[in-house]
Amino acid sequence: MAARCYIGLGSNLAQPGAQLDRAVATLRSADQIELVALSSYYCSAAIGPGEQPDYQNAVAAIATTLAPLQLLDALQAIENRQGRERSVRWGARTLDLDLLFYDQLQLRSERLQLPHPRICERLFVLQPLAEIAPQLRFADGSSVAEQLAKLLQQGNLKLLSTVS
Ligand code: ATP
Ligand code: MG
Ligand code: MG
Repeated sequence: MAARCYIGLGSNLAQPGAQLDRAVATLRSADQIELVALSSYYCSAAIGPGEQPDYQNAVAAIATTLAPLQLLDALQAIENRQGRERSVRWGARTLDLDLLFYDQLQLRSERLQLPHPRICERLFVLQPLAEIAPQLRFADGSSVAEQLAKLLQQGNLKLLSTVS
């Protein structure tokens, strides 16, 4: 049985849109991974240390027969192939691939936390996720669409615009 997973993609270096395109193409052709849905690409201002270029972000839904840590290995291999450097935490990057959900699995290990612990505080994750999986549920029973509405209201935030 394949697991349904959601992957958050982000880039703010070296032609972000092309970086996302390339990562999506790699996911499409990867063994044991089937790309099921892809959100629009969204523009977001960088949150993190120092001045950084804006991000482009998207979320992909996949079906996979890879186990959770195998999938994380595969995602990190794609990041590395696209020149990801890990010198500064939350620093600018060519590609970030975060595993947001692996089915409804809950995991708190050092290498892998599921669902990804910062989804609900990030508009650049929740908005693309809501585009392709608004009814997806968190452990507390709330949906992605509900969490998005809550974040917009609490943070007095405006929806991100998609890349034209
Ligand atoms: P954030 O996790 O806040 O988005 P980041 O994406 O910049 O930060 P990375 O440098 O990409 O962080 O990853 C740091 C470590 O996080 C990785 O080495 C990985 O083992 C761990 N990690 C834990 N849970 C996850 C997850 N759900 N998806 C991806 N990496 C994870
Ligand atoms: Mg990240
Ligand atoms: Mg990451």
